[in-house]
Amino acid sequence: MPNREARNAVDLDDLYRDVILDHYRQPRNRGALESASIAAEGFNPSCGDEIQLSILLEDETVSALRFGGSGCSISQSSASMLTEALAGRSLADARELSGHVQDMLTDDGFDLDQVDLGDLEALSGVARFPVRIKCGLLAWKVLDQALARAAGEEPREYDDIPTRITSN
Ligand code: ZN
Repeated sequence: MPNREARNAVDLDDLYRDVILDHYRQPRNRGALESASIAAEGFNPSCGDEIQLSILLEDETVSALRFGGSGCSISQSSASMLTEALAGRSLADARELSGHVQDMLTDDGFDLDQVDLGDLEALSGVARFPVRIKCGLLAWKVLDQALARAAGEEPREYDDIPTRITSN
């Protein structure tokens, strides 16, 4: 079974960097949805990154998303990848995917072979740079806040990355 070290061989690092840079230079779904069902924002104090997410929900499905904000390449690319990966997913599916991505960024025992994260795997390299992990997590924490509210739950607060609902 290849461990994390083996999977992050040099050629994969290059691939990952390309995906992240591509999303940074050509962000997907940038902007805001006027007809959003729910909108949330978050801030990563350790790097100064800001992300706003607006989400249109239809029939328990994430039908459209837009993101805005500013900050480092990891934070903005992570948000861009999020919007691309989540469109068309059910609420439950979206929350599961968010959990996997956050585990990938924070859990040493996470096994990339167990789930298919597509391009989101590009973010796995971020896990090896502790000071950048929150940059990668930011958009997903904002998403969690929004989807918890959409599901009628009390959102779980994450002290290191303050998030809040801005409209719903
Ligand atoms: Zn950052």
